[in-house]
Amino acid sequence: SPGSGTDVFEELESQVRSYCRSWPATFTTASGSTVQAEDGRTYLDFFAGAGALNYGHNHPVLLEALIDYLRSGGIVHSLDMHTAPKREFLTTFRDRILAPRDLDYRVMFPGPTGANSVESALKLARKVTGRQHVLSFTNAFHGMTLGALSVTGNSMKRNGAGLPLTNTSKIPYDDYFSGATEDFLWLERVLGDSGSGVDKPAAIIVESVQGEGGLSAARPEWLRALSDLCRDHGILLILDDVQAGCGRTGDFFSFEEAGIVPDIVCLSKSISGFGLSMALTLIRPELDQWEPGEHNGTFRGQNTSFVTATAALDEFWSDDAFVGRVRERADELHTGLTRIANGYEGAVVKGRGLLTGVRFPDPTAASRIAAASYERGLLVETSGPEDEVLKTMPALTVSQDELRSGIDVIAAAAAEVLG
Ligand code: PMP
Repeated sequence: SPGSGTDVFEELESQVRSYCRSWPATFTTASGSTVQAEDGRTYLDFFAGAGALNYGHNHPVLLEALIDYLRSGGIVHSLDMHTAPKREFLTTFRDRILAPRDLDYRVMFPGPTGANSVESALKLARKVTGRQHVLSFTNAFHGMTLGALSVTGNSMKRNGAGLPLTNTSKIPYDDYFSGATEDFLWLERVLGDSGSGVDKPAAIIVESVQGEGGLSAARPEWLRALSDLCRDHGILLILDDVQAGCGRTGDFFSFEEAGIVPDIVCLSKSISGFGLSMALTLIRPELDQWEPGEHNGTFRGQNTSFVTATAALDEFWSDDAFVGRVRERADELHTGLTRIANGYEGAVVKGRGLLTGVRFPDPTAASRIAAASYERGLLVETSGPEDEVLKTMPALTVSQDELRSGIDVIAAAAAEVLG
C-alpha cells in the first residue's frame, strides 16, 4: 500500500522540520512524468517540481549533456567568472528566446532561486526610480524572502515576518471582484490627481497566472491596461514569470499572449530545464544601473545549470512544433477538467495552459481530492489561500496517454470524495 517504507520518516518527524505530509512515500527514481517510490509503486506526476520540471524528470538529452560536461572535467562553480557554458547559455537564450520575440533585455543572474530574482527586481526598481513604494496584487505569491513576502498576498505566509514588510500595497487582481474590475481607471485617476495623496510607486509586480494564489489568470486586455498605466506614469512593470514562464502557458513567456513588454522579468524554476537551481532577471537595457557587486551572491555561476538550460533551449525551442504540442495538451487538459467541473455545482476551471485546475465550492474538497488521487497513483497539488483549488501542472512533455489517465484519476477521485 502507499506509505510503506516511510516509518523512519515518521520517527524523524520530531527532529526534522522538512517532511512531506501529503505524499507519505520515499521517492527514488524518476523519468519523464513518472516517479517511483521505495514501496515499488509508480506515480504519475502532475506536480512537476512546482514548475521546475517543465521538461519532465531526467530528460535523456539534458542528462547526457550534464554527464558529458561533468566527465569532461568542466568547471562547476564559478561565481560571476566568464565560462564557456555561461557564454553558450547567453548566446542560445538570445538567439532562441529573445531575438525571435524582438525582446531587448540585459540578462542578470540574481542568485539561485525565484525569490532571488524578485529581490533583485524590487531593489533595482527602487534604485532606478528613487521611489520606495511597490504595488502588488491580492493573492500574489513572489517568494519567501522578506522583500518577496512584502509583495505576497497570502497572510498565512506573511504573518510573523515582522516589520520590513513596509512600503508595499496590494491592489485587486483581475477577477478579484468576479470580473467586475474596471481595469485601472481608479488608479489612473488617483495617480493623476495632485490632491489624492497617492504617490507614484516605483513598480508594480504581477504574475500573468497566480500559480500559488488560486490559479487566477489575468485577461490579456487587463495586462495591457496595466502595462499602459505603468508606461503613462513612469512606473516600472515587473512581471514575475517564475512559475508561469518557460513554456507553461503555451508561450515561452506568459505575457506574450497580451503583447506587452515588461520592464523587468523574473524567471527561475524551469530555466535550467533539469530541476537544477538557476534564476534570471531580465532588465530593459537602460535600467541596468547596478554598480559592480551591488547585487551579488555565491551561487550565481552554476555551470551545470547553464549546460542543461542550453540543452533545453536547443531541444525544445528551436521550432514551433513543441509549442504546438504544449497547446494541444493544454486544450485537452482544459476540456477534461471542464468536464469534471461541470459535474459539481459551483465548480469552476481556473488557470491557463498547463497550469490549470478546478476550484470547488467546498474549500476542503481540493485537498481531499488530491489525497484520493495520491492513493490512485497521481501526484497533484492544491493552490489558493485556503488550498481551495485542485492544481494540475503536468510536465510540458506529458504524453497524451499520461494526460488522459491523470484526468481519469482526478475524475474518479472527485467522484469518490464528493459523491
Ligand atoms: N514567484 C512565483 C510566481 C513563484 O511561484 C515562486 C515559487 N513558487 C517564487 C516566485 C519563488 O521562487 P523560489 O521558491 O524559487 O524562491
